[in-house]
Amino acid sequence: MSVEAPFQKVEEKLFQNRYMVDSGQPHIKIMPHDKPSKNLLAMTHLCPAGCYSKAESGQVELAADGCLECGTCRVLCEASGEITWEYPRGGYGILFKFG
Ligand code: SF4
Repeated sequence: MSVEAPFQKVEEKLFQNRYMVDSGQPHIKIMPHDKPSKNLLAMTHLCPAGCYSKAESGQVELAADGCLECGTCRVLCEASGEITWEYPRGGYGILFKFG
C-alpha cells in the first residue's frame, strides 16, 4: 500500500515563505529600455515569484518584493546589462520556511 504525499499548489508553498522588504532599495534593478530583449521578455514567464510583468507600453517591469533569489534572471539578463542583481542587505529578502 502506497502513501501519497498531500498535494500542494506552488502558490500554497510560496505562501509559507516570508519576505522582508527593503523599502526603496530593491536588490534587482531593471535598466530603462524601449523594447525588451527576448530574454527580458521571457522573465515574465520564467520568474517563479512572478516579479516580472509586461506593461501596456510593451516594456518589462520588475517588482522585486517576493523574489526567491533563485538567480534565473541574473543568469539570463545580468551579463547583457539589462538588469543589475545583488543579494538583499542582511536581514532583508526571502526567509524560507519548511514544513
Ligand atoms: Fe524572480 Fe528568481 Fe529573478 Fe528573483 S532571482 S526576480 S525569483 S527570477
